[in-house]
Amino acid sequence: MCATPASASRSSATAVSSTTSSPRASPPYKVRYVQVTLNAPTAPLHDDHVGGKGHFDATIEGIKAMKRHGVPVVGCCVVTKQNAHLVGEVLTVFKELGVRQIALSRFSPAGYATSAVATLLPSRDDLMVAFRQADAFTVEGGAPKESAMRISCTMPVPPCAVETEEIKGVQFGTCPIGTSMQELALGPDGKLKNCTLHRTAIGGVADILDPSVDMLALLKAPEITAYRKESPEFCKGCLHEKTCMGGCGAAAEWVLGHARRFPDPVVFQHVDDEFSARLEAERADPKKRRLEVVHG
Ligand code: SF4
Repeated sequence: MCATPASASRSSATAVSSTTSSPRASPPYKVRYVQVTLNAPTAPLHDDHVGGKGHFDATIEGIKAMKRHGVPVVGCCVVTKQNAHLVGEVLTVFKELGVRQIALSRFSPAGYATSAVATLLPSRDDLMVAFRQADAFTVEGGAPKESAMRISCTMPVPPCAVETEEIKGVQFGTCPIGTSMQELALGPDGKLKNCTLHRTAIGGVADILDPSVDMLALLKAPEITAYRKESPEFCKGCLHEKTCMGGCGAAAEWVLGHARRFPDPVVFQHVDDEFSARLEAERADPKKRRLEVVHG
């Protein structure tokens, strides 16, 4: 469940997957919406993406149950290398279920999912296929107003990789770290991070409940205040340097080793031969085709 509208949310990890078919009576507070992820139009691929059999059917039943009980539902689909060509079919499923607001995300490797970067990281062509299909469901993309969807992309998409200006109906945003729009992430372990996807704890603080931690000082730490001052070498001189800042720094940190010194892996796969070759080698290795737990 999200506290902010899907259009303002940037994290691919905010989706809630409902597994109940009988929500209880309305709580005493107003639920703005429940965001539910569907990563394929059919069970095998969806279940493969989320890690187990039965999730697709439970998700569909959950959406139907929430709709029956008047709970607003926002759909989410995380675009991957494997499902990009099926985004239109996923949106059709949502549409048939009466879900018209969509948080379209894109796979951005972080944490556990870093080990699946080769199999799940979409290429620029994959993303264009997905976004063009999504665009057709919006008014700007030609859908009738009465049945059109509102679609926002919740992850930054570097415009050097994807011609976002061609996709008129999908709302694209940029990474808000270091701006007044930033939403810090506090993990269950007490670590404060720049967002839910980042690896490094701000100030190196292991637990903000430690009485010696000065929270006000932490909020002025260079991880936040200096974040926008450094750009990847590749991005120097780019027209979009100040807004795009190289795309998702969290993904760059997890996959390439530094949040500010490398551009988003979604870009880097197309400009760095070594990284591209590494992905190709992993794709050819059957042991690397499934998610593995990443420590650290
Ligand atoms: S800032 Fe970097 S990643 Fe973003 S559009 Fe420019 S070159 Fe691409």
